[in-house]
Amino acid sequence: MKQHLDTIPVWDAYKKDCECPVCAIFKKNEEDFVDTYLGASYMEPSRRVETNEKGFCRKHFKMMFDKGNRLGLALMTDTYMQETIKKLKANAEKAKEASAGEAKKNVLMRVGRKNADIQSCAAEIKELTGRCSLCERIDDVMERYIYTLLYMWKHESDFRKTFAASKGMCLDHYAQTLAMAQEQLSGKELNEFVEELTKMQIENLERVEKDLEWFTLKADHRNKDKPWGNSQDAVERSVNKMRGGAV
Ligand SMILES: [Zn+2]
Ligand SMILES: [Zn+2]
Repeated sequence: MKQHLDTIPVWDAYKKDCECPVCAIFKKNEEDFVDTYLGASYMEPSRRVETNEKGFCRKHFKMMFDKGNRLGLALMTDTYMQETIKKLKANAEKAKEASAGEAKKNVLMRVGRKNADIQSCAAEIKELTGRCSLCERIDDVMERYIYTLLYMWKHESDFRKTFAASKGMCLDHYAQTLAMAQEQLSGKELNEFVEELTKMQIENLERVEKDLEWFTLKADHRNKDKPWGNSQDAVERSVNKMRGGAV
């Protein structure tokens, strides 16, 4: 990963007071991608080889639909559907052939036997619905940003301080950062980073959990008049901590 590192979005995210700055980077990129996919350049069929192949997941279809550009989405979905129907026709032929073989079997041959060919046809359909052009692109981009974050931690003392004072991450980005750290850092530096990251993560999870606990205790009439403290938005912050960007 030797290309230019874009440190500004990482700084911008770390200046925000949030439970996972990496989620903030994700959200910004996700929104930009949704706009790009619906933009003029993507309307050209030649640009759509990838989206015709993969389509989109439920979340990203919905995000694009919610943009209100129904024609843009129609153009893209139409060629994706055409491509998918071609694949499904071949799949349907295979399934029919496999079931024709079943019709020739006698009762004893049928007992307790699964038809592996039909199962694989079903798996093939499932696979077609399991991809998303936007998710895959964003995964690449996020990998680069986590690489950048570690690079900044290693080389910029200002960032190191800001990072140490942050509120940790959501669990997904915590795992991703930990995994990337052992690729990118080594020796004493790796040890230092892992100690800092794990400490920060556990402390901040406990902080949010305490806020959430107080939220539940506030429901008790005996606590009705006690102050909320930081608990009023504890539900949002907790689910986002556990599953980044959930709400
Ligand atoms: Zn996150
Ligand atoms: Zn997606």
